[in-house]
Formats: sequence, structure tokens, C-alpha cells
Amino acid sequence: MQEIKEYVAKKKLTISHFILENKLKLKLVIVQVNDDPASNSYIKGKLKDLNEVGIEGELIKLPSETTQNELLSLVNKLNKDNSVTGFIVQMPLPNHIDENIIKENISITKDVDGFNLLSKINPATPNGIVTFLKDNQYDFTSKNALVIGRSNIVGKPMAKLLLSLNMNVTVVHSFTKKDDLSYYIKNADLIIVAVGKPNFLTNEFIFKKDAIVFDVGINRIDGHLVGDCEKNLKVSYQSPVPGGVGLLTRLSLLLNLLEVYRNGI
Ligand code: NDP
Repeated sequence: MQEIKEYVAKKKLTISHFILENKLKLKLVIVQVNDDPASNSYIKGKLKDLNEVGIEGELIKLPSETTQNELLSLVNKLNKDNSVTGFIVQMPLPNHIDENIIKENISITKDVDGFNLLSKINPATPNGIVTFLKDNQYDFTSKNALVIGRSNIVGKPMAKLLLSLNMNVTVVHSFTKKDDLSYYIKNADLIIVAVGKPNFLTNEFIFKKDAIVFDVGINRIDGHLVGDCEKNLKVSYQSPVPGGVGLLTRLSLLLNLLEVYRNGI
């Protein structure tokens, strides 16, 4: 498996050459309705990536009192704006706004996050992991995948995507019994951990020797970022945190924007 940092840097270079050679004028708008420190830092990273590859990025930051109708009007405006290639609405949204209603209203022709259920775009994190595996010639067919966590942004779309690649997919969650979890882990070729708990996956479990683990978790402990996995799991590959799935997710946003652009022409 390639080092993720180097892989992402190379892919970004390819994307920027493609944009330059084809003289593409692409624009991504990020709508933020919170002042959440984690969101601020993700958005900063996204804007930096866009700038690096030659895509215009614009942040529309709205106060947290913004009403659902006001946000919907903005979404509808962006849906119709021909100067905008695609846009994302940064989650989480304030409690008084129904995320599902917003997601349903993002046009599938602009939905870079793949939030709309009708969208052909795969959500960024699952797409980033699968694209990396494909670029590393990983053979998905008939292998056992274990997805730990069933959120709408990671676990569920991850499982759906792996299933479409002909893997045998098991999804576990907070109601899964520990013995069952150990059983599934022992038999898994590919494990995706998206729980949000440091040291959730440790060497106390028994792994297949050639198992591959992607650690999606981002947890902040005393100002440091850690994933959901103990370091140095006894597996053949484990993605690092930081510098792992987070980078693949950011790369995926650029790839998804290009796909939205291609679908629109
Ligand atoms: P959610 O909190 O929405 O989901 C967590 C999932 O973990 C739930 O399905 C929950 O089960 C499950 N879970 C909790 N406890 C256990 C347990 N003991 N055993 C098995 N499953 C359990 O989180 P997200 O999916 O949004 O994110 C997960 C982590 O990934 C977070 O740390 C987040 O910050 C990070 N993240 C990282 C990204 C990146 O780019 N690297 C992108 C997105 C997220 P249940 O449904 O039963 O409650």
C-alpha cells in the first residue's frame, strides 16, 4: 500500500494538471451554519486543497440563528447558479434545521458530498478509501469486509459501496455483542472503523494476518489527534491518524467535484 500522504500529493498534482490543460473554470461553494472548531478546521483544509489544484473556493458562513427556510433559499439559489460547479453544506447543522430536508434539496447536479439519496456521487470518506484501494490494485471480490459503525455519512454508504464491489459485508454497531465483534474481526479481510472512540480496536482482538484496517476515527486527546485504533495493530496494513483517511476524504471532495462537473456536461 502506498503512503497516503504521497499518494494524495500525487493525485492532487494530476488533478491540477488536468484542470490547467483543459482550462477548466471550476468553483466549489461551502455553506457553513455553525462556528464549530472542528468544522472550521475541516473547511480551512478544504479551501487550501481547492486553491492548490486551481479550483475557486468560496465560503458562505451564516450565523447559527439562520432559519431552515433561509438556508433552503440559499440552497435553491446555488442549485440554479451557473457559475457554481458544486457546493456542500457543512454538517452538523444547528438543531432547529432538519439536515435531511436540506440534503434532499441539494440538486444532484451540484451535490459534491453525495448527500442527496438520488445522487450518483459516493460520499467523500467511503469514496476516498475505495479510490485509494483501487489505485493500489486491491482485489475486493469475494473478500470479507467489516464496517464498524453505521452512520449515514460513513458506515452505511461505506457498506453499500463495498457491497457493490462484490465483497461480503458485515456492519456492526453499538448493540453488537463483544463476542460477535471478535468473531467478525477474526474473519475480516478489510476492516473500516468509524466509531469515534480512541483505542476501540486493539491487539486484544485476533486479526487475519493479511487484514487491512482503515481508521476513520478522529478523536482529540490533550490537543492531539488520535484515531479509533491502537497503533501497530497486528495486521498487514493500518491507515495512520493523522495523515490517513482524513486526507483521502479531502481528496475525494476534489474528485467528486470533477465528477459533478463531468456529469453536468
Ligand atoms: P457517529 O457518531 O455518527 O457514528 C458512530 C457509530 O459507531 C454509530 O453507528 C455507533 O453505533 C457506532 N458505535 C458506537 N459504539 C460502538 C461500539 N461499542 N461497538 C460498535 N459500534 C459502535 O460517527 P461518524 O460515523 O460520523 O464518525 C465516526 C468517527 O469518524 C468520528 O470520530 C468522526 O470524527 C470520524 N470521521 C472522520 C472522517 C475523516 O475524514 N477521517 C470523516 C467523518 C467522520 P449506533 O448506531 O448503534 O449508535
